[in-house]
Amino acid sequence: MEFSSKLLERAVNEMSQLPGIGKRTALRLVLHMLRQPKEQTIALSEALQAMRKDVKFCKSCHNISDVELCEICSNPNRKEHIICVVEDVRDVMAIENTSSFKGLYHVLGGKISPMDGIGPHDLNIETLVAKVKQGTIKELIFALSSTMEGDTTNFYIFKQIQDYKVFTSTIARGISVGDELEYADEITLGRSIVNRIPFETSMKL
Ligand SMILES: [Zn+2]
Repeated sequence: MEFSSKLLERAVNEMSQLPGIGKRTALRLVLHMLRQPKEQTIALSEALQAMRKDVKFCKSCHNISDVELCEICSNPNRKEHIICVVEDVRDVMAIENTSSFKGLYHVLGGKISPMDGIGPHDLNIETLVAKVKQGTIKELIFALSSTMEGDTTNFYIFKQIQDYKVFTSTIARGISVGDELEYADEITLGRSIVNRIPFETSMKL
């Protein structure tokens, strides 16, 4: 792609680093920004900079938060003895949308995936096991996607905590749309959390 301006080229190159954005799409977006009022582009870049600089991860559940302890963890009305284990913040948002879950979350930050070089120590597993060892948690709900990586991760965590007095369950499978929680419709997802099944039963299926 030949550019008439180095500034334009730089902006397009940066934009095209984003997933799913090729050079052509990047160019279209950048040209759109040149057409819209300057303030709008400045607001966008300021929002991105502020997010990157100031966003935090909750010290308890690792959810994305503006404060040290996220709103869910610091809400006294949530049941702190039930923890739903999820892959990332999108899953928290999807489950919160169902209004069917009143416990807390634990965000792993991914799934164990040897193919991608992601091992247990790259994820927030140790802090989860430490919480279980404290003895205040009665139930862990595994809500990872039912892929091989999701199952591997569930099983790894299960092995770490099986000697402790904690009930483990998994959300009822029935989520069909792409297997990803974020794409499941709210009613199906809400129902699958309410109708969760013991983890050991799910392994035998
Ligand atoms: Zn939290």
